[in-house]
Amino acid sequence: MTGELTHFVGGKPVPGTSGRFAEVYDPSSGAVQARVPLASAAEVAAAVGVAAEAQREWARWNPQRRARVLMRFVDLVRAEEDSLARLLSSEHGKTVADARGDIQRGLEVVEFAIGIPHLLKGEFSDSAGTGIDVYSMRQPLGVVAGITPFNFPAMIPLWKAGPALACGNAFVLKPSERDPSVPLRLAELFLEAGLPPGVFSVVNGDKEAVDALLTDPRVEAVGFVGSSDIAQYVYSRAADHGKRAQCFGGAKNHMIVMPDADLDQVVEALVGAGYGSAGERCMAISVAVPVGEATADALVERLAARVRTLKVGAGLDETADFGPLVSAAAVQRVRDYVDVGVAEGAELVVDGRDVVVEGHENGFFLGGCLFDKVTPEMRIYREEIFGPVLAVVRAADYEEALRLPSEHEYGNGVAIFTRDGDTARDFTARVDTGMVGVNVPIPVPIAYHTFGGWKRSGFGDLNQHGPDSVRFYTKTKTVTSRWPSGAKENASFVIPTMD
Ligand code: NAD
Repeated sequence: MTGELTHFVGGKPVPGTSGRFAEVYDPSSGAVQARVPLASAAEVAAAVGVAAEAQREWARWNPQRRARVLMRFVDLVRAEEDSLARLLSSEHGKTVADARGDIQRGLEVVEFAIGIPHLLKGEFSDSAGTGIDVYSMRQPLGVVAGITPFNFPAMIPLWKAGPALACGNAFVLKPSERDPSVPLRLAELFLEAGLPPGVFSVVNGDKEAVDALLTDPRVEAVGFVGSSDIAQYVYSRAADHGKRAQCFGGAKNHMIVMPDADLDQVVEALVGAGYGSAGERCMAISVAVPVGEATADALVERLAARVRTLKVGAGLDETADFGPLVSAAAVQRVRDYVDVGVAEGAELVVDGRDVVVEGHENGFFLGGCLFDKVTPEMRIYREEIFGPVLAVVRAADYEEALRLPSEHEYGNGVAIFTRDGDTARDFTARVDTGMVGVNVPIPVPIAYHTFGGWKRSGFGDLNQHGPDSVRFYTKTKTVTSRWPSGAKENASFVIPTMD
């Protein structure tokens, strides 16, 4: 028996009417556990209409009153964090502990958004000209859409919805069709927290629903997170239709290991950042770059031993280091990459392809794989694998190590491990990526800073959360005003200046 999921529109669950569905799996067992409706363009249009109507009233609420809804929402989510984490794990496959982190990092942005009234204040110039004041205000855009990936089904929707709602917009979420249940539950919790019906909607679907959002003139802005080709498509299509868009894509995150780094720290950091969540994180480290042969030999020896100890298990197994991949197709894709790496001549030091998890023989599991002697021409270096596969690329010196992430087409995150402040400072200044960690393997910025990659990891010019999100989700209106009594001057045919 599989359940049938719905959309969530106008403050209530709405069954799909398109007749099209996708299957939602439990990746730990490999079984289908539900089917999710895939919205037609007409269903999307109806949801956007409801959102547009609801937004008008929501925008009239004062900012602090809106923020109070978010405060209550944070409490409600916290109260059921455990069951939400289990639900998340059951569709995504990540461990429950990691699923808690997914929820927590999302809530942190909602907490930031509770303070957004402070950032909505405009600017004011008193007496910019004689008797003239100039001021600006930030106004909501209207209806905005979020199109999100499978790998953080709580965090990324909340990264977008928190700031968008706090700024007075209505939000239409098109989550990943692979794990839609947590987004649906978040919609119910928003309602329970006091959000007016229609201000936050969930429309499940695939390309058809996305295209409907991208072409609907009532959608003013689109926030996308997913793979780079789709990010670029969404960015250009949204721009073609006159929308703001911020679209974040894939990644190939490097960790530079300097000869003076503490190798115990490095090995633990690499296994956590490389294999946590089965490598299905956009900030996962997928390339380790030891500098110098001696560093490389020592690192690979220790790393290989550590990778062999990693425990793969079901999402609910509290002793597992990481769970299954999201789908059978994902497992096949990653296995194919491992085959490609072997064919390309990389050295497969640890081969996790034959892992079997007892009692879960049909689950979508893959053990940790480690490649050494990977070179920049290889496909396993150039392309995002998105699985538990770490590639070691040996660099002769620091300059070569710096060039690798800088010249890679992706530019999401990068890390350097060293005990030398001078090297770390030079690296952070010169490396061509959006987020840098110094002895921090996964440098996801905290909520009140902003998150965004460069090059093919991000399309658009404003980052997610932090002050950038307020700029993205509002438009600036600038007012020039004076209050003269009586007509003081004749018509002027010259451009006004503030003499
Ligand atoms: P994906 O690109 O397959 O899907 C993302 C979203 O786009 C989903 O909602 C999906 O339904 C929709 N979509 C898929 N195909 C589409 C099409 N042809 N036209 C329109 N919409 C389409 O990504 P995914 O597999 O869900 O997520 C993994 C990817 O996301 C990885 O590449 C990962 O690096 C990236 N990611 C990036 C970040 C970041 O912040 N840069 C964060 C998380 C994940």
